Amino acid sequence: MWIDTHCHLDAGEFGDESIAQASLAQQQGVEMIVIPAVEVATFATVAQLAASIPNGCYALGIHPIFVPHAKEDDLRVMREQVAAAMDDPRFVAIGEVGLDFFIPMLCEPAMREKQVFFFREQLRIARDFGLPILTHVRKSQDVVLKHVRQITPNGGIAHAFNGSFQQAQGYIDVGFKLGFGGAMTFTRALQIRRLATELPLDAIVLETDAPDISPAWVHPGRNSPDQVPRIGAVLAELRAISVQEVAVASTAAAKAILPRMKLAAD
Ligand SMILES: [Zn+2]
Repeated sequence: MWIDTHCHLDAGEFGDESIAQASLAQQQGVEMIVIPAVEVATFATVAQLAASIPNGCYALGIHPIFVPHAKEDDLRVMREQVAAAMDDPRFVAIGEVGLDFFIPMLCEPAMREKQVFFFREQLRIARDFGLPILTHVRKSQDVVLKHVRQITPNGGIAHAFNGSFQQAQGYIDVGFKLGFGGAMTFTRALQIRRLATELPLDAIVLETDAPDISPAWVHPGRNSPDQVPRIGAVLAELRAISVQEVAVASTAAAKAILPRMKLAAD
């Protein structure tokens, strides 16, 4: 059994194939797909999509790339919608939230400040509702950690983790799991592969970030959630353990960090 802990199944790239992609993934053993929202305008979409597939759940959040267009009132709307979603068993986390200090436009001083403001306010929502967060961390490992230490959610996933061993330990120390996906499948990704090989197995969850971050055998094509088992097989090979062991451990890690998530087998 596999879990895709981060998949933008609602993305335009999937056109009208989102539901078909979910069943294709299920045929490959992907028992759950976590669909994070990226802005208030997509909250209803991800909730409806998760409800319309047997293996779907969702998160609500404002992604740093959408912060430039976000209004402060969106945070009020988000808090209200999160409160309402607490009754929805398919709602599992706050996300996708975080900080992006890679895209030049987002690095301008005023925009950095706005990103930090939105991130901290969303951390407060996660903390107040006892929810984990799904984080986008780009050139911002230490800053994200700093804010998480100040306003601590109920755990989280550092999605598409790409930092140092010290930073990985920092996330593990605040109760986070680290997300690994397509980037790990490239033989040139030495640091990511070293992390995936040496970090404690129980700190690792698998993800696709579909339609983005395609694994080597799909690149530059569109990524999809049915790729999780093959991504898991790469992790097994790197660690010289069985694919079965990776499936069991990564599923257990995902369940531990997303306690609201209910699998059919539970
Ligand atoms: Zn994402």
